[in-house]
Amino acid sequence: MQRTLISETAKKTGEKVELFGWIDSIRDHGKITFIDLRDATGIVQCVGEALDKVSVESVVSISGTVVERPENLINPNLETGKFEIKIEKMEIVSRAAELPIPIGGDGADIDEGLRLKYRYLDLRRPRMAKNLRLRSKVTTFIRNWLTKKDFVEIETPILTKTTPEGARDFIVPSRLQPGNFYALPQSPQQYKQLLMVAGFEKYFQIARCFRDEDPRADRAYGEFSQLDLEMSFVEQEDILRLTEDLFSDLVAEVFPEKKISSSPWPRISHKEAKEKYGSDRPDLRKDKNDKDELAFAWIVDFPLFTEQSKEDFYHGSGASRWAPSHHMFTAPRPEDIALLDKDPGKVRGLQHDLVLNGYEVGGGSVRIHDAEIQKKVFDLIGFSEKQKEEFAHMLTAFKYGVPPHGGIAPGLDRFLMVVLGESSVRETIAYPMTAGGTTAVMDAPSEATPDQLKELGITVRGK
Ligand code: ASP
Repeated sequence: MQRTLISETAKKTGEKVELFGWIDSIRDHGKITFIDLRDATGIVQCVGEALDKVSVESVVSISGTVVERPENLINPNLETGKFEIKIEKMEIVSRAAELPIPIGGDGADIDEGLRLKYRYLDLRRPRMAKNLRLRSKVTTFIRNWLTKKDFVEIETPILTKTTPEGARDFIVPSRLQPGNFYALPQSPQQYKQLLMVAGFEKYFQIARCFRDEDPRADRAYGEFSQLDLEMSFVEQEDILRLTEDLFSDLVAEVFPEKKISSSPWPRISHKEAKEKYGSDRPDLRKDKNDKDELAFAWIVDFPLFTEQSKEDFYHGSGASRWAPSHHMFTAPRPEDIALLDKDPGKVRGLQHDLVLNGYEVGGGSVRIHDAEIQKKVFDLIGFSEKQKEEFAHMLTAFKYGVPPHGGIAPGLDRFLMVVLGESSVRETIAYPMTAGGTTAVMDAPSEATPDQLKELGITVRGK
């Protein structure tokens, strides 16, 4: 017999079916036993007599007939609550040992380390399964929406050279060139700009970014995903409008219960945000108790530079007062270009931050496409000749016909955390790292073998 999905049983009253899934719960009433069977599509009650003893979460196959339940036994909380399966045969496919963590509740009271060690069980939790399914809907929606607007999805390298966004790089030793290292990208920033030089005009990618900075509730350790996009021949207005349209349509389609507080989204200058709200990511919800309110806003007119300390800006030489307040490829406002020489602290950048309910969920900018201005910014942030050399490819590329361009990168994990009402981005990621920087389920980082180290030309000093 062919497998029937639990969601399909609703259309099969009176028919014989064979179901496969996990035992969600068992109620043993002496002679008869009730089993709630779960598969990826739902849960259905099955009833049988003289069944073999089996533990919850075991995988079984159940053959039986779909029968209507008597009126008084209908369960309005289950999609399949109007009927049940009369078990004719149950086979145990794989028995489950007692689970190390409960998976029934929301998991909030379980040690997170344990949840991550047994993440494959933690993901059986309905809340987590729902979060990941919604995440998939969100990325599918974004892909379809942008593709219809002629965006091209392009993958960029993971083993690459530093692309600084102000954090520490992860580096990977090279075997073919012992003593040299790749850096994992903090974002695809340079590659996406070079795709504009290549003439694609509209690019996007659901990109993985790697930053070695301390974890927080709204920031996973190590890696995160963002919708990275870039467009040519656009002004800041075009980027803001496109993003606003995309997220408004996305919310309407995937989260219809949510209400966006005001459209068009308010635009607030960085100065006004600081003065009026004391924050550059103000929470503009009208009712902060309303879990279905989404208050998007744009923060614009950031200063191009902030005063740096050596520690603040990892790639600054510390030789200059100034660090980019966004990143070093953000263009100054055209009317402020003259101030670059006179008063860099007064220059405003064409940066835009996307704020949602008090969180920064994305940032982007119009980029510098003039090699002279780019050089000037490198100088202002105190780049040494060697540091300039690391970005020489950008200046070289700009010699061969570069369109004006700009983009944005909304963070997927953080956006989902806010719309799903979760307290941490880790609740939106299948396998996030622990706060201590070890991976879920598998124990990385781990030692390399002496042979691996030898090939790489690396000696590890004692820990
Ligand atoms: N590269 C930036 C980031 O990752 C986004 C952008 O400027 O498009 O935050």
